[in-house]
Parts: sequence; structure tokens; C-alpha cells
Amino acid sequence: METQKIPLITIKSLKPGPTVLLTAGIHGDEVGGTMIIQEIFKILKGHLLRGNIYAFPLLNPVGFENVSRYLSQDHQEDLNRLFPGKKGGTTAEKTADEIFKMIMGKKPDLVLDIHNDWRESIPHNLIDYQVKIAKNQAHEKAKEISQQTGLITVLDSKDIEGTLSYNLVKQGIPALVMEFGEPQIKTGKNIKVGVKAIINLLRKLKMVKPTGKIFIHPTTVVLSGKILKYADQSSSTNGLVRFCARPGQMVKKGETVAAIYDVSGAFQEKIKAPAQGIILGYTDSPLVSPKTIVVSFGLEKF
Ligand SMILES: [Zn+2]
Repeated sequence: METQKIPLITIKSLKPGPTVLLTAGIHGDEVGGTMIIQEIFKILKGHLLRGNIYAFPLLNPVGFENVSRYLSQDHQEDLNRLFPGKKGGTTAEKTADEIFKMIMGKKPDLVLDIHNDWRESIPHNLIDYQVKIAKNQAHEKAKEISQQTGLITVLDSKDIEGTLSYNLVKQGIPALVMEFGEPQIKTGKNIKVGVKAIINLLRKLKMVKPTGKIFIHPTTVVLSGKILKYADQSSSTNGLVRFCARPGQMVKKGETVAAIYDVSGAFQEKIKAPAQGIILGYTDSPLVSPKTIVVSFGLEKF
């Protein structure tokens, strides 16, 4: 993939200030973020009070053209597992290396990487679990930034070392993943939420004029700004899944959230909440197989 084909949109203010960088479409079929960026730029045109905003609205044009999460159709390479990339590596590793350098070259003060989760997932910010640098300030700063968006903050449960956000934080740049549902965009509800959350943050950074109310997502109110921990539960069998709780619902430890049945309707297993928390989302597919992630949670107590 030629990185020259990756579009970049820029707005610069005459006044100095923070450099905010937005990225979307790293998974080529998750285009909600692309639309959020388009809307943000419509709002900001001529209204940026200070600093610069850069946006890469589509980091994986090949995946986009193939309506695929992956970088290449044949090898199912996930671009967001290949950072910081490798100069002399495979084509995919070289692409990751070029993209990472392109982003670092803009010297961002913070990076928001926008994704789409399952259709009914609730909007949330995901922070990398632990960046292997002692007392990494960028990691702490990412948590702070996340809380300024008005969305809930979820700390990942393990290190995924190849993600863009993980590698940026490792380099000292606060970065977070913003996860929205509705990848196919039917109602545009999450596009509106995404725009509000990012404008909220830009307002806190004094980059836009404060107008209207500060946005706080209803789930953030329920959880009173607590930082949650990500967890998911998989099935151990093949079957059809029926849910007994919805994304956004609070659950107690051990509460049954889904049940799996075989094709004749015989009960196979229950999927339970591992601890007290909120349901972030559930699989779009009614059919599950062993190791399929069925439900994801943001846990309050862990
Ligand atoms: Zn994604």
C-alpha cells in the first residue's frame, strides 16, 4: 500500500496551541470515525481558536476498498497489530512503519484513534493496559484526556503491543482508542456522540469556543467517572446465542447475560458477568463457536 494515498486533513490556527491528531479507518471497514472526522472539520472550519488539528480519516484504504478490517485480503493482516512497523519487513510491516512515522512527524500532543465496535456497543474510550515504561506520564495523561470527553473510560485487560495507541504512549504521546458501535451507520447516533465527545475535549483544551452544554454520556453519569477494566466472555461450544441483558446495562458478579443453545434448542451453557460492571457490547452474530467473544464488559470491581 502506498502511504501517499492516505488522505490528510488539516486545520491550523494562527495562535499557538496544542496539536491534536485524529485517526480513523485503521480497520478498513470501520468508517464511523471517518464520518466523525468529516463532521468535526465542518464545525471547526474558521473556528479553531488555537493550535492545530490533523486528521487521517482513512488509514487503511486497501481494507476500505475491500470492505475489510484487514490490510490485505489474502493474509488477513491487522494493521493495528503491526505498529510501530518495520522498515525492512513485510509489505504490511513497512506500511505500519510509514504510517507511524507520518503520525510522529506531525508531533502531536495527543492522538485519538477512532474505531467501531459491534453494532449495539455503547460508546467508550479504551486505554492501553500497561505500557512497559515505568511511570509513563503519557499513559496517565491519556486517562485524564479520556475523562474530558464525557465518555466512559475502560482500561484494557492486557498488553496488545502492536496497536497504534500502545506505541504512541510508549513514545510519550498520550493516545486513546474511541470505540463506537454501529459500524454500518444506520441512524448516525454514534456519529453525533463522537462529534460531541471530541468537541468537548477541544473545548477543555480551549481550542474551540464554549457553546451549549458540556456533553456527558448517560453511562458516565451512572458510573460517576470511574475508570473501568475491560473483560470479555467467550463461548466454549457451538450454538445459538440468546441475550438476557443489553449493552449499557449494569450487571452484578455472576449474573447471567446470555445463554447458548444447540440447534435442537437444548441448553448448552450460560455466559455470566465476571464481576460487577456494565455491558459494553455483544456479538453481532447469533451463531457462536468455541472461543467466540460473546459479551464484553467494563468492570467496576476487579
Ligand atoms: Zn477497530
